[in-house]
Amino acid sequence: MKLIPVPAFSDNYLWLWQSGTDAIVVDPGDAEPVLKALSDQKATLRTILVTHHHADHVGGVAALQAATGARVLAPAAEGLGFDHEPLSGGDQVEMLGLTVQVIDVPGHTAGHIAYWIPDSPLGPVLFCGDTLFSGGCGRIFEGTPAQMLQSLDTLAALPADTLVCCAHEYTLSNLAFAKAVEPANAALLQYDAACQAMREAGRPTLPSSIGLERLVNPFLRSRERSVVEAVQRHDPAACDDVSVFAALRGWKNHFK
Ligand code: ZN
Ligand code: FE
Repeated sequence: MKLIPVPAFSDNYLWLWQSGTDAIVVDPGDAEPVLKALSDQKATLRTILVTHHHADHVGGVAALQAATGARVLAPAAEGLGFDHEPLSGGDQVEMLGLTVQVIDVPGHTAGHIAYWIPDSPLGPVLFCGDTLFSGGCGRIFEGTPAQMLQSLDTLAALPADTLVCCAHEYTLSNLAFAKAVEPANAALLQYDAACQAMREAGRPTLPSSIGLERLVNPFLRSRERSVVEAVQRHDPAACDDVSVFAALRGWKNHFK
């Protein structure tokens, strides 16, 4: 099996997962780079998975559906302009001989879902769209901070070796913020140096893993004393789990 982050736009990854000559694509915001990757890999697209309704995640769905006849699976609770089989948390679907579990992760958008494959030849794999990024999380556009915190708690509870396939290469800018929050986090400093080297070599920093994100990602660490204290220096009114998380997200929104 091959798991390939197909780059698109300025910083999206359209994940292509291939088994033999069959392939799945996740969040194809653009059809052209996916069709090129399929022809390079001599693979046939069987299934399109969608995590949420934003254009950079769905822009290529209709064209790929028309070109390949692939099955389209997408969230039930998002407004989408293409034919699809609606999914929501707790649903389970089979593809490429694998069982895929659907997890509700509202926050970035109201109906955002993630796809978790607990048992694959590569180990457990997560496609989390714009909910969890390496070193960060998505902006809260439609949901509440409480929903986003709950969604990230659910993802953080997955097995440590779960490969995290995020939809954007935001890692270095996320880690710059993470270092402002936790300047003494040794795992974070080490990971940041490794990611800088990967980007200088022109390589993706993804997939990450849940175990690594628990060590370096401030949005999965918002109950750690070091993170709470940093947030409270920034926003003294933040006191409980949700208000600390909300203040952390607000701080990141304005961080340069
Ligand atoms: Zn988005
Ligand atoms: Fe996006």
